[in-house]
Amino acid sequence: PAMLGILGGGQLGRMFAVAAKTMGYRVTVLDPDAKAPAADFADVHIARPYNDPDALAELVRTCKAITTEFENVNAESMRWLAGQGVPVSPSGDCVAIAQDRVAEKTFIRNAGLATAPFLPVQTAADLEGDLSDYLPGILKTARLGYDGKGQVRVKTVEEARAALSDLKHQPCVLEKMMPLVAEVSVIVTRTRAGEVTSFPPAENEHAGGILDVSIVPARIGAGITERARSMAMQLAEALDYVGVLAVEFFILDGDELVINEMAPRPHNSGHYTLDATLTSQFEQQVRAMCGLYPGKTDLLKPVVMVNLLGDTWGANGAEPNWDVLLTAPNTKLHLYGKTEARSGRKMGHFNVLADSADAALEQAQAIKDMLG
Ligand code: ATP
Ligand code: MG
Ligand code: MG
Repeated sequence: PAMLGILGGGQLGRMFAVAAKTMGYRVTVLDPDAKAPAADFADVHIARPYNDPDALAELVRTCKAITTEFENVNAESMRWLAGQGVPVSPSGDCVAIAQDRVAEKTFIRNAGLATAPFLPVQTAADLEGDLSDYLPGILKTARLGYDGKGQVRVKTVEEARAALSDLKHQPCVLEKMMPLVAEVSVIVTRTRAGEVTSFPPAENEHAGGILDVSIVPARIGAGITERARSMAMQLAEALDYVGVLAVEFFILDGDELVINEMAPRPHNSGHYTLDATLTSQFEQQVRAMCGLYPGKTDLLKPVVMVNLLGDTWGANGAEPNWDVLLTAPNTKLHLYGKTEARSGRKMGHFNVLADSADAALEQAQAIKDMLG
């Protein structure tokens, strides 16, 4: 069977590997971490850096197609791999845009899609003019932020300047704080032939800056649901994107939609597709990278996904008692095989399927409370 390569071996790579193997492929994972969660399911695990020339050459030699699950993979490595004639999706260029909030927001705006008002901040001088369009706001590092890390909420110019120095004067973006009615995300898949599909939008709730719960169908109107899906597809087209792309939206008063950010890979808010759609976002990634026709994305049943963070584990790292979850009907547990349960670390998730989103949410909340 053909070998597929993936850069990154976290939980997203692990679920990708399961999907790829289910479809009869073999999988090579490149991840420097010897304990990478995806290694358990990989036929080959190359435990080398993402820019290691020998590792990249091995991928070229052995893989039919290559993808990524790691947002901060070296875009240069992806461009080099593509230059060797192996199909690489998404492209290094798309990954590079998604890695830099300034490039990302500029691209989105230039594609005619709405973002929150933002100001690129390279140096303290950029904070000297009139900032009233962006305050109160959030100063975000342009690169390497996730789960709300590298972000400071600022009300005044003085606070913005202090935050820039707290963030060690990294390139940043100052973004206006938007009055959020809700947050949704859309996972879109585009093939090399230009076929585009999208999964139903997930309504996302965060806790402590980390995704906590995704609710599908999102409790928003049909019009805004369609608009979010079409904006996500428009963005994929504008990027000439190949692969799975996650697009996060803010919903504002009056059903206004703005794009917050994108991730050039499957996304935590798409984990509901493992149990509630016929094709999962990971299978869709396999199909797209292999030039296969995308699978059906219809929701089979309302679903709520709940993240399981290390905080749910005991102080000594003891696993929670899963009985309450495993004995509940229509509930499915997914664990990532991580051994160290640090606070805030994503250890797994569970999906609850029910006759309505509200019923699924109620059951999910009860299980969450019982797990502690
Ligand atoms: P992720 O883990 O999704 O990659 P991240 O660290 O890249 O997160 P963002 O998605 O930019 O961070 O922001 C995290 C959360 O902070 C958002 O989901 C939203 O709840 C809130 N937030 C971010 N920017 C704004 C804004 N401009 N106005 C209001 N809330 C915001
Ligand atoms: Mg992000
Ligand atoms: Mg985000």
